[in-house]
Amino acid sequence: MSPYVANGVSHNDFSKLGVQTPPLSTSSTASSSSSSSLSLSSSLRSKASSRHDGFSTRAIHIGSEPSQETNAVIPSISLSTTYKQDGIGNHKGFEYSRSLNPNRDAFERMIAALEDGLELDKKVLYNEATNDDSPSESSLAVTTRGYAFSSGSAATATVLQSLGPDAHILCINDVYGGTYRYLQRVANGLTNLSTTFIDFENATDDNIINSIRPNTKLIWIESPTNPTLRLANIPHISSLIHSHPHTTPSPRYTSLTRPLILVDSTFLSPFYISPLKAPINADITLHSVTKYINGHSDVVMGALIVRLSSPYPHPFLEALPEKLSFLQNAHGAIPSSFDSWLAQRGAKTLALRMKQHGLNALALARALKRNPNVKEVVYPGLRDHPANPIVWSILRGSWANEWIKSQGFKQDEEGRGDVPFGGIISIRIDISSSPSTPETFLTSLRLFTLAESLGGVESLAELPARMTHAGIPAEERAALGIDDSLVRLSVGVEETSDLIADVEQALEIACGGGGASASASANGDASSISTVEEEAMFVDVDSANGSAEDFAVSNGV
Ligand code: PLP
Repeated sequence: MSPYVANGVSHNDFSKLGVQTPPLSTSSTASSSSSSSLSLSSSLRSKASSRHDGFSTRAIHIGSEPSQETNAVIPSISLSTTYKQDGIGNHKGFEYSRSLNPNRDAFERMIAALEDGLELDKKVLYNEATNDDSPSESSLAVTTRGYAFSSGSAATATVLQSLGPDAHILCINDVYGGTYRYLQRVANGLTNLSTTFIDFENATDDNIINSIRPNTKLIWIESPTNPTLRLANIPHISSLIHSHPHTTPSPRYTSLTRPLILVDSTFLSPFYISPLKAPINADITLHSVTKYINGHSDVVMGALIVRLSSPYPHPFLEALPEKLSFLQNAHGAIPSSFDSWLAQRGAKTLALRMKQHGLNALALARALKRNPNVKEVVYPGLRDHPANPIVWSILRGSWANEWIKSQGFKQDEEGRGDVPFGGIISIRIDISSSPSTPETFLTSLRLFTLAESLGGVESLAELPARMTHAGIPAEERAALGIDDSLVRLSVGVEETSDLIADVEQALEIACGGGGASASASANGDASSISTVEEEAMFVDVDSANGSAEDFAVSNGV
């Protein structure tokens, strides 16, 4: 019996259906358990229809059910490390806080519901199994399960370890630096994991398929990349993997199953991308919850969400939920109750925030396109960004889709159009008058704070070449387009016009009216920007199939 079984029902089974978890400190006894179990299953049925609820409804209600003990509307923070058992093994779903605690459980249920692949599964069940287009109870089964970790990096380590020894993965070349570091300096030694880095944006189908080996267990995609916002065609890559004959056993690949597909969607959050749904149909989503999901720059946390059923079945996928649960408990890299509670509170406004992040970023990007001091504006939501049609295909399967339509954003006959797509913009500033212009710009901002990280309600700005990406050798940075003129903006949710005015006035100081020299003295030595965070990585983007050793790593803290 799973350690998380209460009243004969796996705690996660019912809790992940949005059904209220058992009361944590009532006087109920073993004999009251069966009636509680009955009411749970009828409650489960009646709540099943809530699986059609929208994003914010799920974020606000799932995991935040009023306390059965006190009727408190807001969940309490459960600081207890251990839980009373009414008889040996007779408990309410919680035994020891590392294994599961109510706040982490609540967060995990909520985040799983935001990545739910229900729509896709419904179609499969209707068309292929029941041949019936009326909703059936089975079609409303939960399709995802969430796991929370003490950081996004802990989530990365756990999912990579779940692959077992001697695995091989294909990884996007422009991956977050911490992921690269773990792949190259930890996982390779720990589990003999080998990695082929691929420029998924430019790789041909043959490049990708020919990189698959018998032991290729995972494809790791991060999109858009940081800070140049490259966007791989994830729906296409995914359908390529799902349709290729490698997915069935052959003499060469005796026991081969297709590689699983993981998408790190930290930059977009579950609002702008739904990797586990069509048209992407990935198997695993990873988030640095530290960024948009928590959204208030006061929690470090990570999450994995996996499919519990897939139209592309896979033996490893079936075993994955138990493996991740086991490793989560065995490693113990779990978030505290307080952090889980904070992140859950943050996520309640995720859709509201993401809409405003997107609207603000799009408005700022448009304004900056008109600014003579800005040489390039990189925002995939802009019509003329090379990957703009891919943006639209990703959005079509996302929670943002209805909102985008309701706001009147449309594709033109070329499949392009301006559209909100997350809150990160990168710009290249005209540095012809002085190399210190970007720093002058950054220190002249009034509302944007010069700082690393992203995804909070407050706007942040940084110079990747000398901050988040400073550990990357200059020539590698150049290959990725991360030069000294490139500034990354994490556009917050302040008033749009204030943000535009702020960036424009800082550009004016830095680039116009001889601002460069004036502000250089006001802001001190340009070399004073420190490097405190490693955020992304650099590779030879022209090499579709380079071995991991071909690429260097940024060694920031
Ligand atoms: N993935 C991406 C895309 C990130 O940007 C980060 C951190 O910046 C991580 C994963 C790691 O997350 P954390 O900092 O929460 O460990």
